This record gives sequence, C-alpha cells and structure tokens, in this order.
Amino acid sequence: MKILNHTIGLGESIQVKMNFARLNTRDTIEVPIIVQRGKKEGPCLLLIGGVHGDETNGVEIVRQIVAKGLNKPDVGTIICIPLLNVFGFINQTREFPDGRDLNRVFPGSDKGSLASRFAFHIMKEVIPHVDYCIDYHTGGAQRFNYSQIRIDEGDEETFKLAEIFNAPYIVYSKSAERTFRKSMVKLGVKVLLFEGGKSLNLDKTVTKVGIQGAINVIHELGLRDLSSKILKEDQKPVLIKSSKWIRARHSGMYRSDVRVGQKVLKGVKLGSISDPFGNFEKGFKNNQEGYILNSNHAPVVNQGDALFHIGFE
Ligand SMILES: [Zn+2]
Repeated sequence: MKILNHTIGLGESIQVKMNFARLNTRDTIEVPIIVQRGKKEGPCLLLIGGVHGDETNGVEIVRQIVAKGLNKPDVGTIICIPLLNVFGFINQTREFPDGRDLNRVFPGSDKGSLASRFAFHIMKEVIPHVDYCIDYHTGGAQRFNYSQIRIDEGDEETFKLAEIFNAPYIVYSKSAERTFRKSMVKLGVKVLLFEGGKSLNLDKTVTKVGIQGAINVIHELGLRDLSSKILKEDQKPVLIKSSKWIRARHSGMYRSDVRVGQKVLKGVKLGSISDPFGNFEKGFKNNQEGYILNSNHAPVVNQGDALFHIGFE
C-alpha cells in the first residue's frame, strides 16, 4: 500500500503527514493520517472526523479510537484521520480559510480553490485504498443531533453495516452533490455518515455511541476480533425513512419542552417562544408522530430558524 509516497507493508503502521495547503503566513499545516495494517490482506476501513473544523465531537471519537489502540487490525487496514480540516479547527469554524465548506467541493480539482485542491488530494491519495468509511459529523451551531447513522437508501451492505453500528437511529438521507460522502459512494466505498452532538461541544454519550459503533463495524468486517467489547443489546436502531424541520414562527426567547432523541406523539407541546419582557408568549405543538432527531439548544432564535428535525418511520 502506498500513501503520499510512503510504502506501508503488511503488519506495519505509519503516521503520514499530509501538507498540501499552507496558511496565509506561508506556514505549512500538517494533517496526520494514521495507517495501521494487519498481518494479512483484507478490507480497508477509514475513520475520519473534522471534515468541518468546528465539529469537535467527531474529532474526539476518532482520537479516542486511536488512543485506545482500537485502530490496530489483525487483518486488512484501518486508516484514521481524526481531524481533516485542521484549518477550521484552529479558527473554530466549519469552513476552510478560503471561506468554503470542504464538504461541498468534492471530488475537488488540482487547479480549484484551496479547499477544492485539498479535497482533490484526499480523493487521489487516500480514498482509492478505502473500501469502507465512517465519516463523523455533528450538528451545526447549537443544533444538537441525537446519535444517528445517515445512509443512502437502497444499498444492502451499507444498511447492514448501519445496523451493526447500532446508533439509536438510521436515517435515510440522500447525499448532496459534491459532498465527501457522495464522492466516495460514486467510487464504490460503503459510507456510514455518523451525526451526533453539536459543533464546538463534547458530549460523552455521543462519543460512547460513536466509538462503540466503530468497534462493532471493525469486528463485523473481520479486521479484528473485538467480541469482548461487543455489547449485548436487544435495542435495534429505529429506521427513519423521511423527516422534516420545524422552524420558528416568531423571533424571541426559545424554550423546548421535549428532549432530543425522544418519540413525540401528535399534539404534544414542543416548545414556546416569547419576548424578553413578559408580554408575549406562544407555544407550538407537534402535528405528526415522530422522533426528535435534532433539537436547537439556542436560547434566542430568529423567525425561520430550524428548531427540531423530526423523523418518521
Ligand atoms: Zn459536518
């Protein structure tokens, strides 16, 4: 296996540093890629976090997987990139320094924007080796995602792996054009997109679900026998086939009456919005039975802001 001019033999491990883009001070930014190969040939799994620089919870999940040594396979290869968008991480923003969303420029071009060039090199140097990928994300800003695996509908192997991952929810969601997921799927990579928590935040439950999911998948793919770490759970993920966003009808101070992750019946009060002065307050109710996949934790909202993502079986 050859990544970025480094040859990695069976049973070998290496930390390669990818440095295709520089800061505007001309300083080089290095993105560590941790490659661990087993003693026997087998499938290659990529675990990646921080495609968006402010989605720290995904970074923490992959970091812990490396720190605990769970990324050392007996068979095949595990590649870990805990933090892809180092630039955004330094600035605590979602974007690349050129203002672009890295997850909207794939598969990239070697003559395009900075983000686009970076995407191009990832697709050229790393992805051709990859058979399976878990791409760890969080909700944006204050919008907290309950742990869920997002997949395209229709691919049986991807669906089976999503079940094995065993997050509370599996959500059918079409991957948008120019996303990392879409570009990988086009090349035949089986991609699980994990969503859990919110940006610039660490949530221990989300981290636990994300790590356990990777353990389950590593074991299932036969990369390493992790049966001692597989939990005996009778709870299966709930399959969400469609979903919608509920938006704020007013601007003002916002309070939610339901917890993220819970089932909500029709007619249940979801929350209320008021002015800050005690004169105005309006509650709003749920109009279709479903599950709260995402809840906005912001105390103050604008009219039209997304408050809940509700999923339906
Ligand atoms: Zn993201």
